[in-house]
Amino acid sequence: MNDERPAQTVATLGEFALIDRLAGALAEVGAAAAPDLPGIGDDAAIWTPTPGTRAVVTTDSLIAGIHFQLDWTGWRDLGHKALAVNLSDVAAMGARPRLATVSLALTGGEPLDGLLELYRGLGLLAARHGVTVAGGDIVASPERLGLHLTVIGESWPEADGRLLTRDAARPGDLLATSGPLGLSAAGLKLLIESGRVAHSSHDSRLIYTLQGTTHDYLAAHHRPEPRIAYGRALVAAGVRAAMDLSDGLFGDLAKICARSNVGARIDEAALPVPASLRARFPADWLALATRGGEDYELLFAAPRVALDQLRARYAAQGLPAPALIGEVLPMPTDGSPITLRHTDGSEEAIGGGAFDHFRG
Ligand SMILES: [Mg+2]
Repeated sequence: MNDERPAQTVATLGEFALIDRLAGALAEVGAAAAPDLPGIGDDAAIWTPTPGTRAVVTTDSLIAGIHFQLDWTGWRDLGHKALAVNLSDVAAMGARPRLATVSLALTGGEPLDGLLELYRGLGLLAARHGVTVAGGDIVASPERLGLHLTVIGESWPEADGRLLTRDAARPGDLLATSGPLGLSAAGLKLLIESGRVAHSSHDSRLIYTLQGTTHDYLAAHHRPEPRIAYGRALVAAGVRAAMDLSDGLFGDLAKICARSNVGARIDEAALPVPASLRARFPADWLALATRGGEDYELLFAAPRVALDQLRARYAAQGLPAPALIGEVLPMPTDGSPITLRHTDGSEEAIGGGAFDHFRG
């Protein structure tokens, strides 16, 4: 560890050499352009939609100090997550992601090695889901690193243009999630409690100093897995109402209630929270699972018959069974649209709790 040479930064490399190196990092991890997507190099990305499909477009930004902390986030994980949160939105629409564009807002002080790792993380996830990184932009940002991604997707070829939306929940539908809740929020809580924020290091090895019993939580926080196959199976089973959980169950469910003009009841006893998480956070597990955010599981509403069909389909595909968490009700005439039924049978009206970027 006696190598004192300063790491090469963006400022010393220059924009055009950087673009070449980033394209090289993508190629290195197998994220080559699809034949109908020429890849980086023209003034705009070219894309041939599959006939008979409907296109979806989503965009999401991650800003240093707001959405992530380089003190405790490795570059490779950051690249994974920046793409994963966008792919999760495509999964929530029941769609297939096709291409991504990446806009980097750089201070100039970023280490080249870090950005190459970021692109490897992004490229590995893109390759796994057949997504082409088709271009983007690099701009100077005086204060903070920012990643701005846009992903274009399309309905699955067998879906006849059907997609999942937030406005299709109906009273009598059951509510379910694609997987456990609260793991990512628990990971973030552990990172904050561990004092990682006090350190200033871009060393991705920091992430793994908390390995062990906390590993699943950290993995859930740093490397969320977009539920693309799950969303596809939802459409195939005839489900129509879904969204992905980014801002916490209660806050996100309130958005389905508002768009569908319905109410909802959640059963505390049915919440899919691992026993290990309940044991590790006896006072906080319910808040982590319902208001923590960044679960990136799918929340969906469906009639019982569709759910029964889903179970059979998921079992055949080796996907985790949906976790039933409650029921869609008529919109109440007054009060909160969401109630939580506790394990003792009492019911609590849930106030607004969605994460608001300008108030939180
Ligand atoms: Mg979303």
